Amino acid sequence: MRERPSFPARMPPQVSSTGRVTVTSHTPHGAAPPAIPTPHGLGLDSSAVRQQMVRKLALQGVTDSLVLAAMGTVERHRFVDSALVNQAYEDTSLPIGLGQTISKPGVVSRMLELLRNGTSGRMGRVLEVGTGCGYQAAVLSQVTTEVYSMERLRGLYDKARENLRPLRLPNVHLLFGDGTQGCAQGAPYAGIIAAAGGDTLPQAWLDQLAMGGRLVAPVSHAGGQVLLVVDKTPQGLQHCLLEPVQFVPLKSGVA
Ligand code: SAH
Repeated sequence: MRERPSFPARMPPQVSSTGRVTVTSHTPHGAAPPAIPTPHGLGLDSSAVRQQMVRKLALQGVTDSLVLAAMGTVERHRFVDSALVNQAYEDTSLPIGLGQTISKPGVVSRMLELLRNGTSGRMGRVLEVGTGCGYQAAVLSQVTTEVYSMERLRGLYDKARENLRPLRLPNVHLLFGDGTQGCAQGAPYAGIIAAAGGDTLPQAWLDQLAMGGRLVAPVSHAGGQVLLVVDKTPQGLQHCLLEPVQFVPLKSGVA
């Protein structure tokens, strides 16, 4: 049976600083992000619990209204194992198989806000390294024009395809491969975001970042891991180390 996209009708809901969601009558940059179909036959209204999560994210300091709206739209419970559904809207990372984890909503929204760097509408093409279960790719699809998402583990690449299929997001491209090589197909990127952390940044990412573009990735630092933001400017690369984070390791090759 074909599902019809029904909400948002043409544009994403906007979330105010109080976390209230309204659907506005204008669309940033003229085009609407792809609509994500509403749930059918779930037997629960997950929307209310998602809005509660969005309010908490806003209280934690996330202000980007497009990011908050996307977090309120994408059904995280569809991306986790059925045994974990009741934890899907808690601010916690959860196992997704093959020793990997889906990031906390707090970390996803923080990184997306950093990546977008105050862009008012959707930002341009983005490369995501580490598709995992596909959740963050779905969120990215709502706040960017196009998403190239790469995963090195075949089992998770397949799982993400399965998870994303019913959402029919035409601006998401899933790729199986080693993301340390970047993805030349979509380069240059307005943004690059990594969901796995290494000791250094792969040169390919810096090469494939557009002038004026921004990269957000976890990197090893002082025996731990921190978020790193790199801006590619005409004056050179500008690095900024931020708060400690805990991501799975960035690995080479495929498996
Ligand atoms: N964004 C994901 C989080 C996945 S966890 C989500 O929403 O679920 C990080 C993922 O990065 C893991 O699936 C891991 O297999 C993947 N990964 C690690 N090194 C990689 C590499 N070199 N290329 C592509 N994916 C990689």
